[in-house]
Amino acid sequence: MEFEAVIGLEIHVELNCTTKMFCDCPNRPGDEPNVNTCPTCLWFPGAMPRLSQESLEKAALLCLGLGAELQPRSAFDQKVYYYPDLPKGYQLSQAHLPLSRGGALVITDENGQSKKLRIHHIHMEEDVAKLMHEMEGRLPISLVDFNRAGVPLVEIVTEPDFRTPYEAMEFLKGLRTQVRYVGSSECSMENGTMRVDANISIRPQGTTQMNTKVEVKNMNSIRHVGDAIAYEIGRQSAAVQAGEAVILHTRLWDPDKKATLPMRAKFEGPCIPDPAVPVIELSPDWIEKMRSRLPEMPAARAERFVTQHGLSGEEALFLSSDPEVAGYFEALIGQGIAPRLGLHWLTTQLIPAVKEREQKLSCSPVTPARFAALLKMLSQDEINANTARKVLAHLFDSDEAPETIVSARGYRQVSDPAALDALIDEVLGAQPAAVASFRSGQSKALGFLIGQVMQASGGKANPKIIRELLAKKLGATL
Ligand SMILES: [Zn+2]
Repeated sequence: MEFEAVIGLEIHVELNCTTKMFCDCPNRPGDEPNVNTCPTCLWFPGAMPRLSQESLEKAALLCLGLGAELQPRSAFDQKVYYYPDLPKGYQLSQAHLPLSRGGALVITDENGQSKKLRIHHIHMEEDVAKLMHEMEGRLPISLVDFNRAGVPLVEIVTEPDFRTPYEAMEFLKGLRTQVRYVGSSECSMENGTMRVDANISIRPQGTTQMNTKVEVKNMNSIRHVGDAIAYEIGRQSAAVQAGEAVILHTRLWDPDKKATLPMRAKFEGPCIPDPAVPVIELSPDWIEKMRSRLPEMPAARAERFVTQHGLSGEEALFLSSDPEVAGYFEALIGQGIAPRLGLHWLTTQLIPAVKEREQKLSCSPVTPARFAALLKMLSQDEINANTARKVLAHLFDSDEAPETIVSARGYRQVSDPAALDALIDEVLGAQPAAVASFRSGQSKALGFLIGQVMQASGGKANPKIIRELLAKKLGATL
């Protein structure tokens, strides 16, 4: 029997707010444990939570960016369960009246077709504390860090529209781009600011029933989400073929074993309306004000890159998928750099160099103005590509202008035919075999000779001029 999968995702996104959701404690991941705490986020009895305006605005922008409908009225519930990372015994979440309903993302599926994947709703909730399980000598101990307790989260709950692991992975990439664009979160699965649970069930191909699902948690990369879903489809199909029933439960993805492992029976505690946090009421004016703060979104930006800068669809999509890269590219264009030259040097030289140094493009010492100055010297033939790469390396550890680096180190390109002539004669004299090979029709030998002249010039010669002069001397037409 052929099976198809029915998959839905629940995605937790940690908002990059300056404070926590219901108190003024700073939201600073990476600080010493338990320094960013107060009676409210330590969940002492009687503490009064107040919703931060910043968290509401960032959550609202995220919803609008995904095409969701902000609800005029939403409210917090107490999601009751008891766990060491939640000593007050409940988490503030929106179970009955979520912040938004609807929304969707369009992806390109594995057959190259556009597919719309719908969002059921998006709600806000507070994060719980972080548990760390360690060893003290031979004694296993568990430590609690309350810095994360009360940090604002949104949970994006999709419709079960996904059929393949690929669709889930494309959705997550698209979602990450959208959320980064509106500036509400970095959505890094590695750093835990985006966490994904997948609900997976299977059914015979061509049928429409919804069967018992299994929830898979604890995946910390988009690749793992795809792998876990693929594994689960295989596991459930084999079980059903063998006549076993699929039981509702939660599993964990183990990336080392490349398998999902059973964790616990799925537990849903009761959800009771919270009496202390006021109901959120959003006026149409406020919603419009938020909408007007939305930036140009990635699809529109990609389209503009094609029409305005003549990029291919693929190049435009690549650039627009990261707001940092897209912004840098536009800054280069603003400095008068030709789009294609900017794109080429940005993607093949600068981005790898920034990655290698573990920096962020936006905080790199190679600002768009300095990089543009370098590319201008290249496009005006003052330096060759070889030298430009060397100067780029200097830009990372010196604050000198590219022009100064070039002058001070004598990097300027040698284009003067008189100066190059002597070098060429020297090389032709020293390489009779290559000359003979070229004359017998081996055009590859020309490249070798150009390389030799380049080396003799200390890498500073203008390769275009060498090529012309060499061809003339060898009596060839290019
Ligand atoms: Zn606090």
